[in-house]
Amino acid sequence: MMVARKRIGRSPFLTQWVWLGAALTVLLTLIAVNLYRTHGRIAEREEERLSAQVGIVADNMQYQLLTVSSILDRILTDMQESRTTLLSGDVVGSYFSALAAALPGVRSIAIVDAHGNTIASDRSQTIGRNVGGHPYYREIKAHPDAHALYVSLPYQSSLYSNVVNVSRMIPGRDGEFAGTVSVMLNPPYFSALLTSVLYAPDMWGGIYHADGPAFVTDPMKLSAASVSHAGHMIVQRSVNPATLKIDKPLMIELGRDETEIFLQWSQDIAFRTMIFLSICLVSSLAVRAFQFAQRRSEHQAAGAEAVLQATRENYQLIVENTTDLVAKLDPQGNYTYLNQAFSSIYGKAAGEHLGEHFSARVVEADRELAHTSFRKLFDPPYALSFTLRELTMGGIRHLQWTARALFDVRGNTTEIIAIGRDMTDHMRQVGILEHQAYQDFLTGLANRRYFMELAREELIRASCNAEAACLLMVDVDHFKHINDAHGHRVGDLMLQSFSKVLLKTLRSGDIIARVGGEEFAVLMPETTLDLAVEIAGRLKSAIAENALCVENTPVLRVTASIGVAAWCSGLDLDDLMEMADGALYQAKHSGRNRICVAGRSAGIERQGAHFTVPNTGSAVETFI
Ligand code: GH3
Ligand code: MG
Ligand code: MG
Repeated sequence: MMVARKRIGRSPFLTQWVWLGAALTVLLTLIAVNLYRTHGRIAEREEERLSAQVGIVADNMQYQLLTVSSILDRILTDMQESRTTLLSGDVVGSYFSALAAALPGVRSIAIVDAHGNTIASDRSQTIGRNVGGHPYYREIKAHPDAHALYVSLPYQSSLYSNVVNVSRMIPGRDGEFAGTVSVMLNPPYFSALLTSVLYAPDMWGGIYHADGPAFVTDPMKLSAASVSHAGHMIVQRSVNPATLKIDKPLMIELGRDETEIFLQWSQDIAFRTMIFLSICLVSSLAVRAFQFAQRRSEHQAAGAEAVLQATRENYQLIVENTTDLVAKLDPQGNYTYLNQAFSSIYGKAAGEHLGEHFSARVVEADRELAHTSFRKLFDPPYALSFTLRELTMGGIRHLQWTARALFDVRGNTTEIIAIGRDMTDHMRQVGILEHQAYQDFLTGLANRRYFMELAREELIRASCNAEAACLLMVDVDHFKHINDAHGHRVGDLMLQSFSKVLLKTLRSGDIIARVGGEEFAVLMPETTLDLAVEIAGRLKSAIAENALCVENTPVLRVTASIGVAAWCSGLDLDDLMEMADGALYQAKHSGRNRICVAGRSAGIERQGAHFTVPNTGSAVETFI
């Protein structure tokens, strides 16, 4: 059996991946934002720290420069007030030595005249030395300014590789250049000062002249040019007190390697990246496992559905193809489902019987049994078997029913399931059925004896209920010719075909019987004469239209004459049959293929009365 392979939904799985991707993206974004902020905070904190350290050095140097400036001013003042005394040798030397010793940032003090000769110094060996060619001296001489504080470019001294002079010009009588008074800054002091503010091994610092060359650095060999600013955090500040007019200020610069500053942060990135990748891996594996389980359960469900479908189809196949009758009925006894077997037994498509009451085709004699059995299904054990005689295409058949009631959750009967089996042949075989007592062997219709029995009961019922009833006597016209022309076998087939027309055309409640060779009787309960005549008209047309096709024989058609008699109170079955026979006789003698209606009193008044029957297309002209 082909079962459509259901495609397991891919899109929900894709959606799950999209959701996971979105969640991981959000997580990654949060981690990145957090790292970015942390980076900013670290940079800010480090910059503040470096600025504070630079501030310490700058404040100290500023103080040193202010002190140096005031010493130089003091020396100049002293020189103006008592020039001769000051210039006399050892006294000045001792004075300068005392000053230099008192100021840790000052290495030495010297006075140079307008010709470049050192005329006074705390170091006696330098007295008389000409420094006229020295850049710092030439700079002051070239740009003399009595208010300026000159800061020299670092230069090589006898003791240190880089020294810086802080000088003032000695103004002559007319303010012209008359020499310099200088203080040589003490490199070890500033070097120690610089070192004291370095708080990390990767940190470096320097004090530079505004034009670039280094005065002191830590590490020692560091120069402004050697420090690449890329990859470093650097804080600079110039030492330029507002009260001083410094020609070229000194610059302080402290820096740190950014790799070191952000080392912890970088490690944090690596750690978080690892955590994030682990989350990605674990969540992906979890989604994959979940989808795998989901797919498997969907496959199982699809498989179970296919099995269920196959089982359903099997049951459907069995129910639709079994020769047994399978029916569902509502609690009132009306059919709600019928299988195909119904159409082969009752002649109409199964669907046409839906809504019909199950007892409609049960012969009158078995109706009470049918109703009683149906009622019993509503009591324990809610299942029952019973056999009913029913009017079918093949005449009266004995159907054995096995029925069971079904309930809803509240215990109410919702429907009845019934399975019926035609037991006629079986009963005939085992001799249980004395069918000859009831049934015409050729057509399956009731035989004369059974007809008399059923019809009598029906008339008793009609009498009790004061209902109408009519009887039709139907005789095939010139039937002898069929036998004579085509043989007895074809005659039999024609009689069977004829009886099927009766079953098809007449109503389920009508009692139809073969009462003679080619003579049939129909008792129509609850039927007025007008209706009976109308039905007889339809029947006459249907008989005339019915064609029998037998091999090697031309298509055969027959007509029939019908006698109609209406029952009324006081008449018994024999009376009624006599009336109908009389009317039939009249129809035969009027030319056949006709309907005649018997009068009330044994057909005397109305026997032979003429009725107009609606023309139903019969090829035979109709008159009565
Ligand atoms: P009418 O129109 O007057 O009724 O003419 P008819 O030939 O039909 O009537 P008649 O009574 O003359 O002949 C009836 C024939 O029906 C005679 C008999 O051979 C035939 N017949 C009766 N029973 C059977 C039967 O069971 N099988 C067959 N094949 N023929 C039957
Ligand atoms: Mg006949
Ligand atoms: Mg006859």
